[in-house]
Amino acid sequence: MTKRDFTLHRERLLLLRARLRGDMTQMEDGALNKDRSATTNMPNDMAELGTDNFDQELTLSLLGSDKDALDQIDGALKRIEEGSFGQCEECGMKIPEPRLEAIPYAALCVQCASQQEEDGPYDK
Ligand SMILES: [Zn+2]
Repeated sequence: MTKRDFTLHRERLLLLRARLRGDMTQMEDGALNKDRSATTNMPNDMAELGTDNFDQELTLSLLGSDKDALDQIDGALKRIEEGSFGQCEECGMKIPEPRLEAIPYAALCVQCASQQEEDGPYDK
């Protein structure tokens, strides 16, 4: 991951954190409005489509777990400072860029994350 990538993800995380600490109601309205406009207006290009999807899915997925998300965002910002951002905390493998774009505070690679989901919150 280049220095520019770090900066990009850091800015995203800071923006997310600011949103989460701000007005949650306003954020929800924004996400829902985006959803409506997305169905009526065709995006002009793939870049715009990607940005819209990113904002919408991420915003909605964060609603209801803002405290957890804030903790995870803080953790990701710390990893950026330490230079370990983008590496899976479980196996140390590089987390794919598309995953980081979807979940900028992801601490696990897809494999480890799905492993944890399979194990679930219960001890076997
Ligand atoms: Zn992993």
